[in-house]
Amino acid sequence: MGKILDGKALANLLGENLKEKVKNLKAEGITPHFCVINIGDDTASKIYVRSKKRKAEKLGIIQDIYQMPADTKQQEVLDLIDKLNTDPEINGLMVQMPTPEQISADELLARIDPNKDVDSLTPANVGRLWLKDHFVEPATAEGIMALLKHYEIPLNGKNVVIIGRSNIVGKPLAALMLEKNATITIAHSKTQNLASLTKRADVIVSATGEPCLIKADMVKDGVIVVDVGINRVNGKLVGDVDFDAVKEKASYITPVPGGVGPLTVQFLMEAVVNLTRRQNGRK
Ligand code: NAD
Repeated sequence: MGKILDGKALANLLGENLKEKVKNLKAEGITPHFCVINIGDDTASKIYVRSKKRKAEKLGIIQDIYQMPADTKQQEVLDLIDKLNTDPEINGLMVQMPTPEQISADELLARIDPNKDVDSLTPANVGRLWLKDHFVEPATAEGIMALLKHYEIPLNGKNVVIIGRSNIVGKPLAALMLEKNATITIAHSKTQNLASLTKRADVIVSATGEPCLIKADMVKDGVIVVDVGINRVNGKLVGDVDFDAVKEKASYITPVPGGVGPLTVQFLMEAVVNLTRRQNGRK
């Protein structure tokens, strides 16, 4: 039976270190301050925004929420981003996804100052990620890397199958894992015969939002499984992986909840603090 990769415990541990870092910055008169722009009424987004706010408060970071109505015009958001980009009090900002239909999220992301881009989604920072010259990384991908490192799971030469090709999870994770010399396959909704890929994988990362996509007969013995998916099934939170069955074959596996989720929030806050330090000439 697989060992649990306890993301919650690691997030708590790292949270203590970060709290100390924030305290030290404050002693120098610097308080990390970041802004979340949320457009519309998406229920999940509101929950995520609130959980970030709670975490920020615990750490001593200031988080402002700009809640904009669902019919907000593109220009209004661009104007807000311009204002936050040039405000010296603000160290970081992000736009909560998804955005309403009339909004071009790509244009918003491209407008954010890369130096304040806590999600690392601006074209400049995406480029830096693939050039191995990055100062900020997308939080979920960074959290997964930290989890594997914490449990001393090597990636050198390993066959990794990442399922999901989103800009926030699959693609940046592939870049970070390539840096660790893993051999990466990225699967997605048009991939044929997913099982033939997952059966060969030493490490599987699933980020699709499809409950029970990964079943026990799709994985080899000893596999390491990282489940990013967050799905609500009959009122219960589950991942993409058939956890009870797959854990019998896995050597390590993340639970949902308590796996990747807490690390995402933790590493978002790490990004805020790192950008703040960088803007103030700290390493
Ligand atoms: P997304 O919708 O942008 O991307 C989903 C990806 O999954 C796409 O690339 C799609 O091609 C692929 N996919 C969908 N169905 C598939 C299938 N049957 N077979 C193979 N590939 C398939 O989603 P996202 O924003 O990357 O999020 C993915 C999941 O991860 C969601 O459940 C989301 O809630 C969750 N998520 C969790 C965290 C966390 O911190 N735990 C962070 C981000 C996203």
